[in-house]
Amino acid sequence: MPFVTPQTLGEYDVIVVGSGAAGGQTAYTLAMEGAGVLMIEAGRNYTPESETPMFHAPHLAPLRGTSTPDKPFGFHDATVDGGWQVPGEPYVNTSEDDAGRFDWWRARMLGGRTNHWGRYSFRNGPYDFKPKSRDGLGFDWPLGYEELAPYYDKVEMLIGVYGANDGLENTPNSPPGCLLPPPKPRVSDLLIADRAKRLGIPVVAGHRAVLTQALDHRNLPRKLHPGNANAQALLAAHMQRRAACFWATPCGRGCSVGANYQSTTVHLPPALATGKLDILVNAMVHEVFLGKEGKASGVRFVDKATGSTGEARARAVCLAASACESVRILLNSKGARHPEGLANSSGKLGRYLMDTVGTSVQGQVPLLEDLPPHNEDGASGGHLYAPWWAYGEQLRGKLGFARGYHIEFQGGRTMPSMRTAAGLEWLTGGSYGHRFKQDARRYFGSMVNFDGRGEMIPNEHSRCEIDPVVKDRWGIPVLRFHWQWSEHETRQAAHMQKTFAAIIGAMGGRVRGEVLADGAKAIAPGGSIIHEVGGAIMGDDPRSSVTNGYGQAWDVPNLFVADGATFPSNADKNPTLTIMALAWRSADHLLERMRRREL
Ligand SMILES: Cc1cc2nc3c(=O)[nH]c(=O)nc-3n(C[C@H](O)[C@H](O)[C@H](O)COP(=O)(O)OP(=O)(O)OC[C@H]3O[C@@H](n4cnc5c(N)ncnc54)[C@H](O)[C@@H]3O)c2cc1C
Ligand code: SF4
Repeated sequence: MPFVTPQTLGEYDVIVVGSGAAGGQTAYTLAMEGAGVLMIEAGRNYTPESETPMFHAPHLAPLRGTSTPDKPFGFHDATVDGGWQVPGEPYVNTSEDDAGRFDWWRARMLGGRTNHWGRYSFRNGPYDFKPKSRDGLGFDWPLGYEELAPYYDKVEMLIGVYGANDGLENTPNSPPGCLLPPPKPRVSDLLIADRAKRLGIPVVAGHRAVLTQALDHRNLPRKLHPGNANAQALLAAHMQRRAACFWATPCGRGCSVGANYQSTTVHLPPALATGKLDILVNAMVHEVFLGKEGKASGVRFVDKATGSTGEARARAVCLAASACESVRILLNSKGARHPEGLANSSGKLGRYLMDTVGTSVQGQVPLLEDLPPHNEDGASGGHLYAPWWAYGEQLRGKLGFARGYHIEFQGGRTMPSMRTAAGLEWLTGGSYGHRFKQDARRYFGSMVNFDGRGEMIPNEHSRCEIDPVVKDRWGIPVLRFHWQWSEHETRQAAHMQKTFAAIIGAMGGRVRGEVLADGAKAIAPGGSIIHEVGGAIMGDDPRSSVTNGYGQAWDVPNLFVADGATFPSNADKNPTLTIMALAWRSADHLLERMRRREL
């Protein structure tokens, strides 16, 4: 029975806390290679096959499915429990201003945020691992691109990522057989690509974790688990159960046919099929406890059903509760030998929290009006994107900010929703009645939206700590956030605004609203892009970092951090593919140490 209760826990090699991208990948790698794993998840069990409202039209939902404070991404969003605020689980900000606030999105469910996420899956490039060596700012990683590349290969092959190899600077190619073919561009994509290229901005195939064709179940399992016939057979069987995308439904609701990556549809089923993985849901871990030799012995958790405290034990503990939650667990794991939190001899725990720099511009393009109907849903998210293009100019100090950004964009028609014809006054001048209906049809599908996704440099002012007063509903102390952008980020946001307006202009379109020259006004609040990383950074030196390059805590050799908390920088590339590649590498390291009986 893979789903266990606090009363039926067994003996385990490794406890994995959390079941999202990091926990899913870690448990998968460990269980497929024969380790006994207990996964502990704070949220409830979640079954995408039966719970995903893929085909529900907006009129079947309250308020036609529009977003509400409870469901910010709409009624049908896959996040069944969670959001910017989680009932009974507060957090504290030292400032409520947009500039000094940190917004924290949490999903409390099996699979975490991977049930909803945008599925953009980019590799960090060689520069991204050594940013300090390149421009003197932030920190270098204790590993380089070459060391992580084999794990990017594996994750791409396992989860299925579409994309193409374009040979662009700091935008790595994948070896043959790793990527699936990208979907065809939409009409709006083609127009954006053409006009952006005229401005010197490259536009290439997007990379997203969506199956544009069935996975090669005959060859991939052998490459992923060489010499492990059992894992190969289980994975081959599972790959055949995942269908290819049928280009029709919003990925944010999840995918009941397994055509996109969710931990619940990709990592957990084969891992459970090994019989080596047990899952305990509705259990909120709050502490890692140590044994005699100062090694981690297990974790304490609150059973949310009864409110009672339980304990689970294992030879090693791996935290994958998402960056800030893993930091919170460590900070709350205080003892006589570590009064400032576990694994915190450097004093760096909670420091160097980062998010992605984000800002958006929307426009309307007359060339896209009244196009003949055709399927523009596609793979739900971006078919194309624009990787950062100005590395040289930037290094020569010509831009006024040190790190780059990429552009994600959307256009075209998707299923009309509550807001499709809302807010058109800037175009219609306020039409109504028959004229408004004509206007709504005319403008539907002619809007384009550009989102910048840029690198933030870690700074001393963006961090989290335990609030001395506030506790959650189970009495667990909560996090307090401090946040500050530097001019590198605000200038970058201003550059995004100017660039997006230029592309819309080159398309013959009109920008909606003001183009913000002041980046401090343009930049989205910290945390709001939901790419938070850092807080337990990895490094070469135990005096200035929390873990080594394998996510292994310097202070506790059998304690690992597998999520984004260990990132010492946050490249413009969305973090999740890198989280999974690092988690696989870290799990391999853990397995090797266990085989050698070093843990
Ligand atoms: C709307 C949205 C769009 C996104 N788009 C992208 C994108 O396109 N590309 C990209 O790279 N990233 C994207 N992300 C970010 C991506 O979802 C995260 O980077 C990724 O899920 C992080 O994985 P994780 O395992 O660290 O955390 P999560 O996926 O959040 O999983 C953590 C799990 O741990 C559980 N947990 C937390 N605390 C405890 C505890 N104390 N005890 C037990 N369990 C606990 C949680 O309930 C959760 O299930 C997006 C996120 C959102 C919300
Ligand atoms: S667009 Fe494709 S991958 Fe996304 S939910 Fe629909 S079928 Fe699944």
